[in-house]
Parts: sequence; C-alpha cells; structure tokens
Amino acid sequence: MNIIADLHTHTSVTAHAFSTLSEMVRGAKAAGLKAIAITNHGPTNPDGPHEWHFANMDLIPRQIDGVTVIRGIEFDITAPAGGINFMANKSLRSVEFALASFHECLFPPSTRAVHTAALEAILHNPYVNAFGHLGNAAFEFDMEYIIRQCNDCGKIVEINNNSLSIRKGSRENCAEIARLCRKYEVPVAVSSDAHIEYMVGRVDGALAMLAEIGFPEELVINSSMERLDAYFRSRDIMLWENRGTGS
Ligand SMILES: [Zn+2]
Ligand SMILES: [Zn+2]
Repeated sequence: MNIIADLHTHTSVTAHAFSTLSEMVRGAKAAGLKAIAITNHGPTNPDGPHEWHFANMDLIPRQIDGVTVIRGIEFDITAPAGGINFMANKSLRSVEFALASFHECLFPPSTRAVHTAALEAILHNPYVNAFGHLGNAAFEFDMEYIIRQCNDCGKIVEINNNSLSIRKGSRENCAEIARLCRKYEVPVAVSSDAHIEYMVGRVDGALAMLAEIGFPEELVINSSMERLDAYFRSRDIMLWENRGTGS
C-alpha cells in the first residue's frame, strides 16, 4: 500500500514548522504525491496563525505545479468540554479538511473519562472531518466507544506517522485504534504531520504497522486517487478540477 496524498502538514505560519506553502507543495511533488492538505494549527494555539489566515485560504489555487492543494486546519480540542478553537463561521468557509487533535498545551492530560467525553463532543462537531493523532498515550480514552460511533457521525481517524516516533507509547495505541477501525469499518487517513518539506509523504512506519495487522487498503482514503476523490466528493469538494485563484 502507498499513499497518494498527505492530509496533515504544517507550513511556516505554524511557528514550529519551517517551510512555505510552495515548498510543501514541492515536497509533495518530490514524494510523488497527487495532493496535499495544509493543516495549520488554529488561532488559539500559541503556535498558530490569526484566523484571517484561514479566511483567506480561498486564494490558494486548487492545483500548484500538478499537485492538488486541500485547504485544511488542525483544531485543538480544548479543555474541559472538548470544544474546538473558536472561530467565526466565515473564517471557516474555505476549510475543506479539518482535523481535531489533543495538544498538551491546550488540553492538559486528565482522566480517561474526561478525554473520552471530549472526543465524544468532537464526534458531534460538524466542522471536524477527522481525529488527529488519536494514539497519543498521554490521552488515554475509551477507544471502542469512540471508534464505533465514527461512521454514524461522519468522522474518520488519522494514523499519524509522526506519532509513532515522537509520542511515547503511540505505536501500540495506534495499532489498537487501527484494529478497531478495521472492526467497525471506519475509514482512516495515513498522514505524516510534516513540519518541513522533506517530511511530506513520509509515512513508512504507519504503513508498516498497518501491514502488520492486515489493515484493508480500501479503508485508507488516501491510498488511491479514486478513494480520495470519493471521500471529498461525498462532501461536495472536487479535488481535480481547477478552481483558479480567488473565491
Ligand atoms: Zn497535532
Ligand atoms: Zn499537526
């Protein structure tokens, strides 16, 4: 199995990332990808840009140098109730793919019950497409309870390659989450969480883990253009049509 799109990446408007939009697209092309989602942190993250950044994303062409660009965001799940960054609706209009993730700086790790309740709130949040790096061992939760509701709530699950190396204990958690996604037929996206162009499309560890557990390729939405297209089309987003610039 391979991926044809990376659905979790940061540009240098995220303070601890290092490459511009053009450079990230170049990284995607160098990795042989057909598409890249730019998913910078939301504005309440100390690391993130002002919300006007997201409001203005419709300036980004659909295709840059043969790579489809998807306008995204990585929301923080905020404590204690599991909301996401507050942003005006009009700022979110351009967003085509939204992750929601726990980050220790905005959600101090708490109990399994608190984490599970926060994730359940996200299940019902219409602005969110996918749970980001759910395998973070600092945020234990009732995996089966959350994953089995994902399809009914229209949510997918990210398998985050970066987590496997930087978040302690993530590997076992990610494998267990993937097993539950297989059991409940929940689609996943395999992503790099790249913070520099040279990391775009690097998901070898995540793919190896999925191969080990016999995860079905059909459930990986970014494993073919057809699957990626079907996922976004079901949300009225046409990935391969040139939208030019401007809104
Ligand atoms: Zn994150
Ligand atoms: Zn990220």
